[in-house]
Amino acid sequence: MARTANGGFDRGGGSAYHCAPMLTTRLPSRVEPYKLAARSERLEGLMALADFARLAEEVGPQSGDLRVSLDFAIDAQGRRVIRGRLEAELQLPCRRCLSPMAQHVESEFLLGMVASDDLAAELPSTHEPVLVEDEQLNLLTVVEDELILSLPQVVYHEEADCEVSRDQLTSGEGAAASQEPAASPFDVLKHLKGKS
Ligand SMILES: [Zn+2]
Repeated sequence: MARTANGGFDRGGGSAYHCAPMLTTRLPSRVEPYKLAARSERLEGLMALADFARLAEEVGPQSGDLRVSLDFAIDAQGRRVIRGRLEAELQLPCRRCLSPMAQHVESEFLLGMVASDDLAAELPSTHEPVLVEDEQLNLLTVVEDELILSLPQVVYHEEADCEVSRDQLTSGEGAAASQEPAASPFDVLKHLKGKS
């Protein structure tokens, strides 16, 4: 499956999809990153938000697509790197009333490929390590990590739009609900940061 998708990216010299205003290409869930880096390839396309199980655990089920572009390269120091960008419209739970609200999320990131966790320590702090095993990279995991890292830490409705009014909050009823561990991008964030 990854191969057919790669083949699709390779042909046509890139200009066809670079100019296309609407992306419809589906990114594969696994790629061969060393080859892509050696050829300085760019992968650009969509991934279904519904495929991200950990994201759903954090902020509830999502629909629609994530838009991703990944530039694979070998840098001047000989490191294999990926410069990436992602963008999506998510439905994130309001911290007060917990009902979903639309949020635009985007981020840019720089990844350094490593063949083992030990080697991650040798990367400069500007690079986030990504583990390449058997010359394969799990794109789904990598992109999901980045998406979770890019979540806003807290989102609230405007007071007028929120189902929990300020009165309820101060009387304690709503406050209890809002302190549920609920959406905890914090914990995930800590976990991910701890790795680097
Ligand atoms: Zn609300």
